[in-house]
Amino acid sequence: PSSHAALVIIGTGMAGVGLARALRRLGDQRSITLVSADSGDDYSKPLLSTGFAKGLAPEQLAQRSAAELGEELTAQMFIHTQVDALDVDNQTILLEDGMVLGYDTLVLATGAAPRLPFSLEPSVAPRCFTINDLDDYRHFHSALGHGPARVAIIGAGLVGCEFANDLHAGGHHVSVIAPEGSLLPRLLPPPLGNALSDAFSEAGINLHLGRSIDSIAAESDEDIVLRLDNGDTVSADLVLMATGLAPRTALAEAAGLSVSPSGIVVDRQLRTSHPHIYALGDVACVDGVNAMYVQPLQASAKALAATLSGTPTPVSFGAWPVVVKTPLLPVVAYPPTTTPERWRIEGEGGDISALAENKDGRLIGFALTGGCVRRKVELSRAAPTLLG
Ligand code: FAD
Repeated sequence: PSSHAALVIIGTGMAGVGLARALRRLGDQRSITLVSADSGDDYSKPLLSTGFAKGLAPEQLAQRSAAELGEELTAQMFIHTQVDALDVDNQTILLEDGMVLGYDTLVLATGAAPRLPFSLEPSVAPRCFTINDLDDYRHFHSALGHGPARVAIIGAGLVGCEFANDLHAGGHHVSVIAPEGSLLPRLLPPPLGNALSDAFSEAGINLHLGRSIDSIAAESDEDIVLRLDNGDTVSADLVLMATGLAPRTALAEAAGLSVSPSGIVVDRQLRTSHPHIYALGDVACVDGVNAMYVQPLQASAKALAATLSGTPTPVSFGAWPVVVKTPLLPVVAYPPTTTPERWRIEGEGGDISALAENKDGRLIGFALTGGCVRRKVELSRAAPTLLG
């Protein structure tokens, strides 16, 4: 069986759906097919790490079902369908059920997948989770059950910290374990990471920083026990792995497109190394930059929609800081892309500003906590853009 569409988009995350919406907004009427390995429900991924505090059921996070989305976009939807291969010479893609879809233009919006640093014993695997889409949220939500649960979170990056704060606010007992010595190590210099640690600890979140995990074992029907390198143990009902994301480049790579560890290589017009194939969102490395957050993918969707409808439009990214959703201590960060000559750190308690400067004393990034987050707009204006 086969079918054909003028535009095939692989991925129904914010990038794939954002592009389809931007095209329709421009009045583009070509036939569009969207293919997704997940449920295809329209949801905002950033809300996944705010749902437990509000007690939101998975259905409340889906803004539209895949069927409603297909209607809104006048697009054909294939959901819970993995794309197994691209045939770039014949301009077709192969779906897991054997169906072949032809395209004139193909867009890869396959996002990024959780990176797991170690393999899990079969006895603990069913109680270890990642949350990177609405289906994952659904599974974790049902495993949590009704009463307060003990959740061990592995990883102290944005995803780990946001879920720690959110699950704590939802009444669960949270521990965070990470090899780095402070929270948000890639976004905050240590004094600000420590301010966040203080806020978490005071609230009752157990932190095990600077620690690696020697073993994870199911010691009874109830307890999963994590043994740390200093001999400490953490007992939990569930484990949440927040150990980083890697762009899903396998399809592109197998088809011979140019990829790097940061993603599918694309130019400012989001063109891959192959004519008729574009990429955007967490999977794409645009002119050397893969920011992996929402504002750059929205700008990319808008630029690519214009390009595909006949007005070639290079994308640019502003100085868009990341707002970390940790209400226990608000955090805003715009990490410098090169190692700063110095950090100028001011403030006290939880209210700290850190300005990264290069050797000429120019601002190249910043990090703010507590009351200092109100400097976000002023500092963003002074900082260099992400992709000018
Ligand atoms: P994804 O949403 O990962 O979508 C990828 C799509 O591709 C999915 O539909 C998937 O099923 C499909 N797919 C992949 N491979 C295949 C295949 N072989 N066949 C078929 N389909 C395939 N950013 C912010 O700016 N602000 C925030 O506050 C924020 N909070 C976040 C909180 C969490 C918990 C997480 C995980 C991320 C957060 N981010 C935030 C990052 C932001 O959500 C992502 O940058 C964005 O959602 C990425 O969208 P995407 O469409 O590129 O990828």
